[in-house]
Amino acid sequence: GANRAKNVLILMSDTGGGHRASAEAIKDAFRIEFGDEYRVFVKDLCKDHAGWPLNNMESSYKFMVKHVQLWKVAFHSTSPRWVHCFYLAALASFYAKKVEAGLKKYKPDIIISVHPLMQHIPLWVLKWQGLQNRVVFVTVITDLNTCHPTWFHANVNRCYCPSEEVAKRAALDDLQPSQIRVFGLPIRPSFCRAVLVKDELRKELELDPELPAVLLMGGGEGMGPVKKTAKALGESLFGREHGKPIGQLIVICGRNKTLSSSLQALEWKIPVKIRGFETQMEKWMGACDCIITKAGPGTIAEALIRGLPIILNDFIPGQEVGNVPYVVDNGAGVFSKSPKETASLVARWFGPDSEELKRMSENALKLAQPEAVFDIVRDIHELSREQGVISQISSSLTSSFFIPSPET
Ligand code: UDP
Repeated sequence: GANRAKNVLILMSDTGGGHRASAEAIKDAFRIEFGDEYRVFVKDLCKDHAGWPLNNMESSYKFMVKHVQLWKVAFHSTSPRWVHCFYLAALASFYAKKVEAGLKKYKPDIIISVHPLMQHIPLWVLKWQGLQNRVVFVTVITDLNTCHPTWFHANVNRCYCPSEEVAKRAALDDLQPSQIRVFGLPIRPSFCRAVLVKDELRKELELDPELPAVLLMGGGEGMGPVKKTAKALGESLFGREHGKPIGQLIVICGRNKTLSSSLQALEWKIPVKIRGFETQMEKWMGACDCIITKAGPGTIAEALIRGLPIILNDFIPGQEVGNVPYVVDNGAGVFSKSPKETASLVARWFGPDSEELKRMSENALKLAQPEAVFDIVRDIHELSREQGVISQISSSLTSSFFIPSPET
């Protein structure tokens, strides 16, 4: 019947925190906007249904980010189109059966890929099964600027780009204007829809109610020069003249347990909170006044929504490089690789340069796109309705028992 709930399959891989966060954002937005109309499944399809090397993507990613040079080589050497086409075609034929099983299990009406390597294989399987006109396939790109060309596939119904820069790249890679939409990076609705009051958050999170607060993190895996920066902040945020702290520090280490235990073992002259993987990032960001992070797109987009000036202290070569000018050129933050420099900048922001902090916070809010995830799901909803009409017409034409249904 026309009113059955539609199945949405979101394809992701749990590399870092970003892809999962985007997938969950889309899932939440579907529920908020459309309730029972859609059943959304988030699947690490390759992990669940395929063998090596795709089910190893997560651990090879962790390995690669630890060996940055290697990642750099992999990123650039797979860029030429013929290399990844050949590579992916080989993989596709090998894993198609397993991917097919995944598609059969979830019977998706809509497939959303939030991963650079999850266009080719599923689209290939859909085509092979003659399903490409029945299933809406869209890509939601989760890199803000310099994204890998495997994100772009000419056969998608839509390609959602987080920025004009990415949209330009999509157009150069043969996507039609009708396929491209620019709404912003999908961020979990809890970031944009909840009313968050800084004073209350500080009480809830047991932070100092008065002292300005800096949040220090490094993506889902707690990467970058977090420890050195934390130590430098421990010095710079202690006001020597009056012998008391001029700020407080919150370090979110994500899944990096070594980092959190080594920070716990240190002595601090300022109030410090050291946390592991947090599930309510919007609260921690809402309680702080600025953030220091590697250039992860998810963290950046979230910080912009909360109006936090950003100090970028690291990036993953290749896909995160472009996130740096995105922040810096728009006046929402600065880039500094030096922990000392970073720490003294925060001290100035919490002291004589508070106007600069305020100005950057305003710029951050201007750049923020809190509604992006809702724009995306509404657009997918429209696409799916259009597709529904088309496939109903074509299936009535091919049906030998065609009885026109009464107008309602
Ligand atoms: N994140 C989280 N809890 C943590 C650390 C990170 O929920 O303890 C989230 C963070 O809010 C962001 C994502 O993980 O949404 C990190 O994505 P990003 O693109 O910044 O970097 P990645 O980890 O993917 O390299």
